[in-house]
Amino acid sequence: MTPEAQQSHPVPAATEQDHAAPSSAAGTNLAAEFQAAVSQYLIRHRSILDILAKLQETSARVQRAVSRAVTECGCLEVHAQRQQIPQGISYWEMRAHVSTHLSGSLCEQCREVLEMELGHNLFYLTALCEALNLQSDDILRQEMKRVTTLGVFNLT
Ligand SMILES: [Zn+2]
Repeated sequence: MTPEAQQSHPVPAATEQDHAAPSSAAGTNLAAEFQAAVSQYLIRHRSILDILAKLQETSARVQRAVSRAVTECGCLEVHAQRQQIPQGISYWEMRAHVSTHLSGSLCEQCREVLEMELGHNLFYLTALCEALNLQSDDILRQEMKRVTTLGVFNLT
């Protein structure tokens, strides 16, 4: 990671207790707390244009981290082929027949890198919410509801 990138991703310390979740949030939750921290620490890349660019950049870094686990480390392998789905089964039964095409598992080092990159991606995703006055906890709640109530239709 470049020094610039590191500087732009301060890990929100758990010391700013006075900077709590937005007052509109019912009770404390992690997403709201995180968004408040992002708002506080996002200084240099506060422009919507910077946020959009960083969101894409960090997303690419997530993909790169997974690729590196395969191509450089080797702790993961990808053996991809057409999904073999029996005819006439239900959508829910498909789950038992579709593959991730992955074998192996993340080693400690690759896991650390990927978790860090995912964290940075979440940071800018949350920054996008903040810049547009959207509440990430509301979005999470709505999506959770969609996934659990409309699951099949929403995800196909
Ligand atoms: Zn690895």
